[in-house]
Amino acid sequence: MQMVDYNKPLEMKQVPVPGVLGEEVLVKIQGSGLCHSDLHLMDGSIKIIPSFPFTLGHENAGIIEEVGEKVSGFKKGDPVVVYGGWSRKFDRFSLTGQEQLTSIQDWVGIGQPGGYAEYLKVPTFRYLLPGDGLDPVDSAVLTDAGLTPYRAMKKLLPNLYPGSTVVIIGCGGLGQFGVQYAKILTPYARTIAVDVDDSKLSIAKELGADAIINSKKEDVVAKVKELTDNEGAQGMVDFVGADATLAQAYSMGGRQSKLVVVGLAGGTLKFTAGLVNELEVTTSNWGSISELSEVISLAKMGRIRTRAKRIGFDEMNKTFEELAAGKIE
Ligand SMILES: [Zn+2]
Repeated sequence: MQMVDYNKPLEMKQVPVPGVLGEEVLVKIQGSGLCHSDLHLMDGSIKIIPSFPFTLGHENAGIIEEVGEKVSGFKKGDPVVVYGGWSRKFDRFSLTGQEQLTSIQDWVGIGQPGGYAEYLKVPTFRYLLPGDGLDPVDSAVLTDAGLTPYRAMKKLLPNLYPGSTVVIIGCGGLGQFGVQYAKILTPYARTIAVDVDDSKLSIAKELGADAIINSKKEDVVAKVKELTDNEGAQGMVDFVGADATLAQAYSMGGRQSKLVVVGLAGGTLKFTAGLVNELEVTTSNWGSISELSEVISLAKMGRIRTRAKRIGFDEMNKTFEELAAGKIE
């Protein structure tokens, strides 16, 4: 299923099956996640597609179909999960496994052909993790929707302590993992989930959120202050990244708190200089290979739940419309 231009539905096309050489691996796709980031790529608000037609799909898992002659540790028939932040560079970031910080043009399904296809050519076996024991649809989703909030939550660890509060803003695909990681990584902290949709908030509650706030119905900053004896939260993760959510997240931050911005809505935060709060603000970009292996471990241990709606190629355009309209839980 290929993108033929910005703001056009995806089209089914016949393309040749790629050959593989050297360290390359051909993966028969069994699961590929539809991501909210794809909407930003399709409507051109992130204009990065190298040329049309182009195959999206950056969250992938499947079975190895063929390996190049320099591949070791993997063979035909192995179930694998594909790390997506590909890079062709050797710099201090890629050498520490943080390849996603190196080159967005080399990311699968964003700069390089992705997994909305029967087969995916992976440039090196080093981007594969064993997927045995996992459902490939669930594990595909873990490579971004599961990985990105994991990295973001880990950035909060130094700021959280027993009795502290973490606020998850946006309880869609990523936020639902965010709530689960808050419970796993910082069970001693209170987790508050914020969204504009009651059904997403009830899922967040089910996944372990201690309190939920509908920011359409309530003054979310006042409510967080009330729940924290007027101190404010110590960790905030904004999975939306719009002007309004950034302003809310910033305003609810207490002393030595940290705001981690993940959402790609392109908002701007007015950061006021001052000495009082020692509030930190940072972005968080996807995840490293080692962080993905930690996420996969949690899934294999049964500690995280993936809620995936399963669709076929013929339902992709309709599903992207539903995703854009906020109708996908
Ligand atoms: Zn994604």
